[in-house]
Amino acid sequence: MLAHKGEDIVCSQGHKLGSITEDIVEGRPITGHELRIDFSVAGISPTNDGHSCRACNEKVTEVRDGTYRVRTTHGWVGELS
Ligand SMILES: [Zn+2]
Repeated sequence: MLAHKGEDIVCSQGHKLGSITEDIVEGRPITGHELRIDFSVAGISPTNDGHSCRACNEKVTEVRDGTYRVRTTHGWVGELS
């Protein structure tokens, strides 16, 4: 198990930007529906390849070809395709 349902999505400064809505397991790509991003505190990355923290600009997700990496309290999980 890489991340559990209910875990927080956080930037490296500790700001909470959302949560994991479905268990994330090794070997299964993250497609985005496992993630709930709180857009009151998060924005689309300026380079349009994920989401970033509005407060500190740190990235919390990266996406390529519909596959995500996401930053949880345990660090980054998932692999880009
Ligand atoms: Zn932040």
